[in-house]
Amino acid sequence: MSGEPSRQEQTLRTIIEGRKMEAYVEYRTRDMQVCWLCGTISYKKTPMKAVGSRLICIDCFRQIREVIETMDQWEAEVQLEREISKKVGEGISL
Ligand SMILES: [Zn+2]
Repeated sequence: MSGEPSRQEQTLRTIIEGRKMEAYVEYRTRDMQVCWLCGTISYKKTPMKAVGSRLICIDCFRQIREVIETMDQWEAEVQLEREISKKVGEGISL
């Protein structure tokens, strides 16, 4: 069969494919971004927010924003609960 690639050619091709893969992995690793909180790996297309020197993905960022937005309410609830238990405690001791 004259159309078949020789063994040497096949070996060379395998090496070239391997090199290509290495270069590809290297290229992807360079652009790779990892979310500091959930560990999600994303590439340039996925939005990541830099918070200080950390990167946070959009999902975690939304969650954090939600926590911050409801922080006042949460703080007030904790305060109220403390007041109630204090009052209850006083009531019992009387
Ligand atoms: Zn995340």
